[in-house]
Amino acid sequence: MSTERRRARRQPTKLWRAPVLRTERITPRMARITVGGPQIDDFVGSGTDENVMLYLYEPGADLPEPLTLESARVAMSRVRPYMRTYTISRHDPAANEIDFDFVLHGDHGPASKWASNAAIGDEVIFVGPSPAYQPDLTAAWHLLIGDETALPAIGSITRALPGATIRAFVEVEDVAEQQDLDVTWVHRNGVPAGSSEPLVKALAAADFPDGKPAVWAAGERQVMQAVREVLVEKGIERASVRPATYWRLGHAGS
Ligand SMILES: Cc1cc2nc3c(=O)[nH]c(=O)nc-3n(C[C@H](O)[C@H](O)[C@H](O)COP(=O)(O)OP(=O)(O)OC[C@H]3O[C@@H](n4cnc5c(N)ncnc54)[C@H](O)[C@@H]3O)c2cc1C
Repeated sequence: MSTERRRARRQPTKLWRAPVLRTERITPRMARITVGGPQIDDFVGSGTDENVMLYLYEPGADLPEPLTLESARVAMSRVRPYMRTYTISRHDPAANEIDFDFVLHGDHGPASKWASNAAIGDEVIFVGPSPAYQPDLTAAWHLLIGDETALPAIGSITRALPGATIRAFVEVEDVAEQQDLDVTWVHRNGVPAGSSEPLVKALAAADFPDGKPAVWAAGERQVMQAVREVLVEKGIERASVRPATYWRLGHAGS
């Protein structure tokens, strides 16, 4: 294990405040927000899948100063942010930059709405990092499944597995939402996000390599339950399929 990864495990969870440096629409429904500067100088990434909790305060909220994890918690009953989980899509310690990739699913979600309006200089407040998936490097092959919210994690996991046999299935709206990743793209083509149909059909029809895979899956809760069932039907051990709920249709919060 690299020294950097060992240090990452020891990094205590902390509240970070950093400005937006850049924004980019990487696809019509995905905004990349780059934050950074000296404020994240001592941020240590693990080099694999990890996430943070965004604290989205109302504009002009009367925040305690200094704003730390502890003072934010103490002030929660008076000033409570929307809390939403986002994956670190890229961390560049040399440039002091972190990219977050936001699915723009509409203005009814505070995080999606914030991301679609984010501008250079806006302050981003987040707590973390929380290391997430550590792939089993001894697995015969790796099966990665998700919708567009899982793309940043799938990118990180893939980068952490050079030379491994990987099969990834990612559901997105249409061809315009595809990114430069070696995955099987599954298009919803108008079927609403959160319906199990497109991903389940694609997995049911897929040919898998021989051997026992390490499985990682994340997306809408009920879709992930259906994904689990179809994988079990295809002969993958139920105990090895533990999908993560990244969002729930009709429910706010991650
Ligand atoms: C560990 C983890 C990592 C995550 N990483 C990312 C990431 O890198 N990028 C990312 O975009 N998301 C990511 N998510 C998912 C994200 O946290 C949720 O989608 C979150 O609910 C978005 O918050 P919101 O304020 O925009 O909407 P909310 O206020 O939570 O929800 C409002 C409404 O929008 C619906 N909704 C929420 N998300 C979606 C969606 N993706 N598509 C369609 N409808 C939706 C809800 O069902 C609800 O009806 C991650 C979640 C987890 C747990």
